[in-house]
Amino acid sequence: MNLIIMGLPGAGKGTQAEKIIAKYNIPHISTGDMFRAAIQNETALGLEAKTYMDKGELVPDEVTNGIVKERLQESDTEKGFLLDGFPRTLVQAEALDRIMTELDKKIDAVINIDVNPEVLMQRLTGRIICRSCGATYHKTNNPTKVEGTCDRCGGHEFYQRDDDKPETVENRIQINLEQSQPIIEFYSEKGLLHTVDGEIGIDNVFTEIQKIIE
Ligand SMILES: [Zn+2]
Repeated sequence: MNLIIMGLPGAGKGTQAEKIIAKYNIPHISTGDMFRAAIQNETALGLEAKTYMDKGELVPDEVTNGIVKERLQESDTEKGFLLDGFPRTLVQAEALDRIMTELDKKIDAVINIDVNPEVLMQRLTGRIICRSCGATYHKTNNPTKVEGTCDRCGGHEFYQRDDDKPETVENRIQINLEQSQPIIEFYSEKGLLHTVDGEIGIDNVFTEIQKIIE
């Protein structure tokens, strides 16, 4: 079972990926892990990727694609795999198609966890941190017992990390939305795309994913 999982930041992709790999016993192949492993093992492509990363530059597609191809040739992928974070662009999706053909494999399903961007905004901008003791809360999912008062230390001042600020989050969602749309269309045309409603709770989302896989 060769799967791709997609979803905007905050859609719950990581949580569902964990459940899928545990249940179906297939490796979770994320771009970050792949790069880390290639660099650690000092493969030619890993070292090449590192020279770009050290300069703070984007790793070119041909290097990334090469790392993906190497990873998909490892023996633990024989029963299947779950790709996460790749392909990130249409060019990468087309490259993955070629890689799969070269390896005599095919993608069986692309699972896209769909959550309304407004809901994502609410999920991702809700985190607040107590300035005195560092306790973390979420405005809607995990609020303080008394509004404006830290449960742990009684402090009244809270702050947000830069990553959680609305303008940062909105920008991140927008970029991801624009990048993922052509990929979604690409797999939709191939009949591989399965969209799952990501707003129905973690367990229900996983039930829907299992129906797709089985
Ligand atoms: Zn506190």
